[in-house]
Amino acid sequence: MAAGGFAVVRRAMTAPPTVRQALAQSGLVPVDGRALLAHVMGCERAWLIAHAGDVLPREDADRFFALARRRREGEPVAYLTGWREFWGLRLAVDPSVLIPRPETETLVEVALARLSAGGVPSVLDLGTGSGAIALAIARERPLARVVATDRSQAALDVAHANAQRLGIANIAFAIGDWYDALLPASSTDFDLIATNPPYVAASDAHLHQGDLRFEPIGALAAGVDGLDALRVIVEGAPARLAAGGWLVVEHGHDQSDAVQRLFADAGLADITSTRDLAGIHRVVAGRRPPKSGTDHV
Ligand code: GLN
Repeated sequence: MAAGGFAVVRRAMTAPPTVRQALAQSGLVPVDGRALLAHVMGCERAWLIAHAGDVLPREDADRFFALARRRREGEPVAYLTGWREFWGLRLAVDPSVLIPRPETETLVEVALARLSAGGVPSVLDLGTGSGAIALAIARERPLARVVATDRSQAALDVAHANAQRLGIANIAFAIGDWYDALLPASSTDFDLIATNPPYVAASDAHLHQGDLRFEPIGALAAGVDGLDALRVIVEGAPARLAAGGWLVVEHGHDQSDAVQRLFADAGLADITSTRDLAGIHRVVAGRRPPKSGTDHV
């Protein structure tokens, strides 16, 4: 008998698992298992909890176990499902972009606190990746004119598609390395520049562990001390900021002091440091000094 026949017989004899059994057999932590099974079944995670005793359709079980294996081998859940939620927005992601992280929501909060709700600010997001920061700010400040840059066309395609799907129209996209993405003629004075650049030291062992192995290295690593990108961004900011305009950056867990020094060296004022939800200093903000009151003679 052909091997195919054997497989059919074996299949018929092995009953498909229930939701509960599939999750237990997957070898995944519950949060990952539920996310992948909900993705396969096209349901909410809550549904799985209410239907733990339901038997899975065979095809769903097979697809789930295939994804579970990839997850066990290290692929991030967000790349396997194609989605990650950020700031309440459902963002498509693929391996050309960094997976948005909760700590970057802290950066969005710091940025929004510096953008009055009624104004028509011009905002720049450098290295937008999936578009997370630009999309969150554009959604919260519909009157803002947002420019989102990336040096990767694949990333810009992801960000642009996210903007279209979410119906967020007040973002323009530009390709290029940091400020090089801006044409000299279009480099208006920004009221706020926000960025989550690469900031991991190239020698950091974490780059070769866990989920980070699957993310774009260019979005993670930045030179010997991890500050190569931040140096370029901070040094170039005053020339691109309106008087009184803010620079808001995310940085690594041990970089707050160094980043604050970069801000001060660049002549930025009103420098603050903000902790993320894990209590780690994660975001530095500062601004180009406002024109003093005596200037307008
Ligand atoms: N916070 C990320 C990590 O270490 C790094 C993101 C970045 O370099 N911008 O997992």
